[in-house]
Amino acid sequence: MGPWGRNMAVRTKLVAGNWKMNGLREEGAALARGLAQRAIAAGRGGPGCELLICPPASLLTTVGGVLSGSGIALGGQDCHAAPNGAYTGDISPEMLADAGCSHVILGHSERRHGHGEGDAVVREKILGAWRAGLVAILCVGETQLQRQAGKAADIVSIQLAGSVPSGAASSNLVVAYEPVWAIGTGLTCTLEDIATIQAGIRALIPSGARILYGGSVNPQNAAGILGLAEVDGALVGGASLDVDSFWAIARACG
Ligand code: PEP
Repeated sequence: MGPWGRNMAVRTKLVAGNWKMNGLREEGAALARGLAQRAIAAGRGGPGCELLICPPASLLTTVGGVLSGSGIALGGQDCHAAPNGAYTGDISPEMLADAGCSHVILGHSERRHGHGEGDAVVREKILGAWRAGLVAILCVGETQLQRQAGKAADIVSIQLAGSVPSGAASSNLVVAYEPVWAIGTGLTCTLEDIATIQAGIRALIPSGARILYGGSVNPQNAAGILGLAEVDGALVGGASLDVDSFWAIARACG
């Protein structure tokens, strides 16, 4: 069984930074440089987890260049399903791979809710990502109303059933559980709720695939969240825009 197999006691954690629509070239390069310097100084084991940075598309080349040799991977924040074509404003999985990306975030709530993307669209995007050799980071999570109605686990199951194509494996899929109400709000799920939902996700995805938690992860709450057995890392938005905060979260994996 491979390195992520169930018979391994511990899956290497992954901490991914989603910069969203933030950063001009100079700030992006400075942020990436700060992280690259720390990763290089930390040596072979890095901070004790794998690191991934997902800058806006305009910064992929700049940030990719700065991260080169640091061991920090590069990812996209979204992509179209098609390899090319008349899709104004979109970026294809092949373009992300060509820019040096190894991962792409798909189905983020800001895409689902801000751009009307449903599970069928997300599924096609995942297939596109795989075609280009990218690992898909699939985001799932319930809204506040759905949680209050006691439907959090059902919603997450429905999203997984509708968006994970056959062919999913621990090598091509990471799931990020991100309660919508916790993203960018400073609110986080209780550790008990995170563990319960993520154990439910574990039963529905390929053996050994990593499950990240996302939603207002910060240096103060990271150790508790990342210490949960069912949490294989974090997807970090706001706190990934600061070198010290992102590095502190990464270090909490150790
Ligand atoms: C995200 O955008 O995926 C996210 C988790 O954001 P934040 O950490 O700011 O809540």
